Amino acid sequence: MHQYDVVVVGKGNAALCAALSARDKGATVAMLEAASVDESGGNSRFAGGVMRFAYSSVEDLQKLTDIPEDEAKNTDWDSNTVEEFYEDLYRVTSYRTDPDLSEALITKSLEGMVWLRTQGAKFVPNYGAQSAIVNGKRKFFGRFPITVNGGGAGLVEDLTKTAVKKGIEIFYETRVISLIYDGERVLGVRAKQKGAVVESHARAVVLACGGFEANPEWRTRYLGPGWELAKVRGTRHNLGEGLKMALEIGACPYGNWSGRHAVSWERHAPEFGEVERSHDPYRHSYPYSIMINAEGRRFVDEGADFYNYTYAKYGAEVLRQTGQFAYQVFDAKSKPLLKKEYGGRNVTKFTGNTLEELAGRLEGVDAKQFLKTVREYNAAVKTTVPYNHAVRDGRGTEGIEPPKSNWAHVIDTPPFEAYGVTCGITFTFGGLRINHETGQVLDLGYQPIPGLYAAGEMVGGIFYFNYPAGTGLVSGLVFGRIAGNGAGAAVKAA
Ligand SMILES: Cc1cc2nc3c(=O)[nH]c(=O)nc-3n(C[C@H](O)[C@H](O)[C@H](O)COP(=O)(O)OP(=O)(O)OC[C@H]3O[C@@H](n4cnc5c(N)ncnc54)[C@H](O)[C@@H]3O)c2cc1C
Repeated sequence: MHQYDVVVVGKGNAALCAALSARDKGATVAMLEAASVDESGGNSRFAGGVMRFAYSSVEDLQKLTDIPEDEAKNTDWDSNTVEEFYEDLYRVTSYRTDPDLSEALITKSLEGMVWLRTQGAKFVPNYGAQSAIVNGKRKFFGRFPITVNGGGAGLVEDLTKTAVKKGIEIFYETRVISLIYDGERVLGVRAKQKGAVVESHARAVVLACGGFEANPEWRTRYLGPGWELAKVRGTRHNLGEGLKMALEIGACPYGNWSGRHAVSWERHAPEFGEVERSHDPYRHSYPYSIMINAEGRRFVDEGADFYNYTYAKYGAEVLRQTGQFAYQVFDAKSKPLLKKEYGGRNVTKFTGNTLEELAGRLEGVDAKQFLKTVREYNAAVKTTVPYNHAVRDGRGTEGIEPPKSNWAHVIDTPPFEAYGVTCGITFTFGGLRINHETGQVLDLGYQPIPGLYAAGEMVGGIFYFNYPAGTGLVSGLVFGRIAGNGAGAAVKAA
């Protein structure tokens, strides 16, 4: 039996931010991680590393990374003011996001990023993926010009080093199976460690062990039939166990339990993410494509917005199609816009010098209808509107359903290419109800459960239906800090 002030369950970004915050309050802290060292770090380790936080000027960005003055001046850094962040989050969640949680997320995001830098995280401008040269000047788009160096893997590595340096004990291959609860307060956790059950007693437990995205049975149960067939983009360890153990002692469920972040993903990707090749299955260039299903028809507005605002909901649209697949179709004009992973290995790709040739190669697709769809789409493109991929260019279609609202090219220039995609689930939106100031988990009567805190994917009520890219890591950061500070302060006050 071990005794700590604070036990943190998990070792992803939210857990690390909670552990470091609690430690800075003077608490003794242990982290219990289900995965081995090699597989540790949760979905955070798979993250591309873009982070969406509120900023109003380049000076705010300079608090996070060194940007030479001439570069600062001569670049359009886009903006993501507090108001713009609210607007995006409310719009994409259909105005369902919890007002208190979203306020905490948005208003504490920049100070959180500055704090994260003090904990060893390194940030860099995201020139490659989020900017383009427009009229001779570099312009960022999508409202997140900064990414964490080395992606999520770099972030987890840097924070882990700091945690070890600060004396936080980390136990790997230690899967927490239940909370120790006396009917009034949480007193610790029980875990399976190398086949044996071990107990860790603590004055506060922070659950930061992810959603249920890797659990096919729970996916089917809560997201609906067919979701067991989705590929998992990240870790295989987030099975909903933290949620289960909290619900078992009367924690209040909250948020969009049938909701999830899921994207278009390489059709034949492995069952779970592979950390060494975590980016290979990305297929985020669909706004420049038309997406065709087995019936040879389009089924979404591919160019409704920048991918940052649609990718997280379009995975579900792909899953809904016959056979759970679709093809993203491009012609040679769009090819230069494709992200680099389209040119990688293990890509389901077909090419044709004519559309007829391509249609004949797309196994399982109604070729006749495919050609009709392309003809109708081509005839509907508003070719008089100039094409510009760095802005919402309004070059859409007229008179077809569904429309394509931006970035519509006539598909007429060979070679033609089609990339096979299926649905890849990232994380689930349903979670626990927490106090937004302390991170404490609330019970069914909305009263705090003494000794129990939650952070990261486990917090319900923030995301509904959809998600603005780059918010998962920042949510883990903000609510990880809140929970860690809350737990650390409560322990020290006791
Ligand atoms: C491929 C991919 C790309 C992404 N890209 C981005 C991006 O660029 N920007 C962004 O903001 N977000 C991104 N995300 C989303 C982001 O990674 C997550 O929202 C975020 O990392 C979740 O952090 P977390 O700490 O809550 O969970 P996780 O990082 O998943 O951590 C959960 C931890 O709990 C552990 N665990 C689970 N069960 C137990 C148990 N019973 N006992 C002990 N430990 C347990 C897991 O092993 C893991 O360490 C991406 C996700 C994926 C999969």
